Amino acid sequence: MKSIHLKPGRQKPVFRNHPWIFSSAISEVRGDPEVGETVEVFASDSTWLGFGAFSPHSQIRTRIWSRDPDENIDENFFTNRIASAIQFRKDLFKVNDTTAHREVFAESDGLPGLMIDRYNEVRVVQFLSAGAERWKETILDFLIGRGDCKTIYERSDVDIRELEGLPKVSGLLWGEEPEDLICIEESGIRYYIDIRQGHKTGFYMDQRENRLIFSELLPEGSTVLDCFSYTGAFTIHALQAGAQKVMAIDSSSSVLSIFEKNLSLNTLSKERVDLIQGDVFSELRSLRDQARTFNVIVLDPPKFASTPSQIHRASRAYKDINLLAFKLLKPGGLLFTFSCSGGLSAELFQKIVADASLDAGRKASIIRWMGQAFDHPVLLSFPEGRYLKGLVCKVEDQSS
Ligand code: SAH
Repeated sequence: MKSIHLKPGRQKPVFRNHPWIFSSAISEVRGDPEVGETVEVFASDSTWLGFGAFSPHSQIRTRIWSRDPDENIDENFFTNRIASAIQFRKDLFKVNDTTAHREVFAESDGLPGLMIDRYNEVRVVQFLSAGAERWKETILDFLIGRGDCKTIYERSDVDIRELEGLPKVSGLLWGEEPEDLICIEESGIRYYIDIRQGHKTGFYMDQRENRLIFSELLPEGSTVLDCFSYTGAFTIHALQAGAQKVMAIDSSSSVLSIFEKNLSLNTLSKERVDLIQGDVFSELRSLRDQARTFNVIVLDPPKFASTPSQIHRASRAYKDINLLAFKLLKPGGLLFTFSCSGGLSAELFQKIVADASLDAGRKASIIRWMGQAFDHPVLLSFPEGRYLKGLVCKVEDQSS
């Protein structure tokens, strides 16, 4: 079999079950492997380390499939890994509290580059690495063979495919054309999902548990500001939890039109909601200039940093919106603030929020740390899988 050979001392992460091998760790590639082809991985002293998928265009040159020398990377391998990822979720969803969840979360499920999300009987898949792409047909055959969905739709139209030298693609892979909007139910709330054009694969399922925390902590009769609202999930939770009024801001008109449909779908009147199509950065400034205040603010921005080089600029953007939010909170108010930038650590995020409160002149305490829902698990050996972090901060009752 074709192989890659590591430089001296570079085998340590592999021994610790980390799945990535960077190009800088490799001294030699033997046999000219194709894009996504399985290679054997050896330490510099020729110790066998594992099987991985070769990706000649990516800085992450190889992603480990298995460290078991007796395992064949074949149809059975993918069948077993996917089946156990699906079962993992089945075991954990004790009550039927959602019809949408993530079935496979890439590296965290031992399947680097593969995402599988499920919306009722529709599967939406993403092949994000050369290795996952190479096994696409095998993976599809298995999913079709399970007989438990009617559509498999691809949303591999994401920038990170380009790092792997793969084109962005999306479209129906198998089964019935999905409806324009699929209606799912989560925690007793119904949502329309646009799997063709929606963000990610259509919905932010990773926020499921945080939305419940939000509902739980929301004081009755609150005024709420939902920034980066997307299709309204936090707003709907707020309305159902007895908010007096919600102002929701998002820059995208297509997202806001689904937001409005979601209100009607849950028989919620638009009267308690101010929907604003605008840029959160400037809307927050204008709210500050008008001296508007709120009991509760949600900041759930898109990923500001996609690469380590963007962390500095992203930090400034997080600081900016958090500072403005602290200024807009009424005494005793709650801030639900998130970052989904994988490269920005939870510690750094907390520090940014602390700096923002200081500069805003508001004392605040963290009353909850939040993360991603359990169907987006984090392998202990792959901490990079943790990308979503959130804090609930309560500002002091007296303005200081
Ligand atoms: N809170 C949402 C998910 C938010 S996703 C939920 O739980 O479902 C981030 C959203 O921010 C997207 O809908 C995107 O359209 C919007 N967005 C991105 N940049 C923005 C900006 N500068 N101002 C306002 N909205 C923005």
